Amino acid sequence: MDRILTISTKPIVIAGPCSAENPMQLQQIAASIAKDDRISMMRCGVWKPRTRPGGFEGMGEPALRWISDLRKTYPTMRFCCEVARPEHIELCLQYSMDAVWIGARTSVNPFLMGELAEALRGTNLAVMVKNPITPDVDLWVGAVERLHAVGIEDLAAIHRGFATYNNLGYRNNPLWEIPIEMKRRMPKLPLLCDPSHIGGRSELVAQLSQMALDLHFDGLMIECHPSPDDALTDSLQQIRPSELTTLLDSLKIRQQGTTPGEMRRLREELDMIDTQLLELLSRRMKISFAIGNIKRKHNMPIFQPERWQQVLDKQLEKGRSLGLDANFVKELSEKIHGESLRQQE
Ligand code: PEP
Ligand code: MN
Repeated sequence: MDRILTISTKPIVIAGPCSAENPMQLQQIAASIAKDDRISMMRCGVWKPRTRPGGFEGMGEPALRWISDLRKTYPTMRFCCEVARPEHIELCLQYSMDAVWIGARTSVNPFLMGELAEALRGTNLAVMVKNPITPDVDLWVGAVERLHAVGIEDLAAIHRGFATYNNLGYRNNPLWEIPIEMKRRMPKLPLLCDPSHIGGRSELVAQLSQMALDLHFDGLMIECHPSPDDALTDSLQQIRPSELTTLLDSLKIRQQGTTPGEMRRLREELDMIDTQLLELLSRRMKISFAIGNIKRKHNMPIFQPERWQQVLDKQLEKGRSLGLDANFVKELSEKIHGESLRQQE
């Protein structure tokens, strides 16, 4: 059987509502998806993991029945939904779903991943694994490995951002370095981006989608609803079908091709600067280490909040005068300071 999730020059595009709400809503979305051959699969949440109790938790099995009905009108359309328990997988098989995804609140838990992998053993469902809510690339790799181990080959990873101390104005901090590392560790695994759950606001979806393609992602999963304001879940981030068409029209798909000479030269310069940065950091850490010894000798605490505040203020001011983003300077300073403290322990 052909794989659903494969790397090609054309991005894999999955679109559909956060939640399946009623047959009419699903029909409206399916009708627009069917007209756009750039979209390869429709998504719709059937069971919704809610952060707080009391909200809409998905329609469950009746939604799978509505999807089966849709297949009569759109026999070649593919459908996927989220699964979080072995019973969900059994129902997806019973209703012939094409693919499932494992959400961020599930991929974070190795016990649950183990149970889901067992339930998927021997099935031909395609499976997508969203990054765990915590920025831990090993946990994400581990979740994929558990599925590989039970023979699932039609697999992909989905980057949906991370819950961090400072989400930088996004619903979930993209921390692009994590999906880049995931791609480096598993180069053959298609990597999709979910700009809807990263941005959390419809106006951010297009720019995040382009960013993902520029970073060599293999596809996108985008939430789309006929009337986002009335959506029962994630109403701020869903876009209308017409907005999805505009977004897909606007995407620039970059070419691999040969590297122009000018770019090669600039890259050599970047590599040189990267080396210098590491050399400077190494010098800085050696000095921190020496200061650590002095602190110990004089029975002083390692962490001194006033000194840290001064360093941070100075760095932010310098960063501003150099045209650097304040969040970036703050995060970088926190990282360097954290490593200095570790050196002094
Ligand atoms: C979803 O895709 O609707 C969802 C709940 O996703 P996540 O696991 O990324 O929060
Ligand atoms: Mn959602």
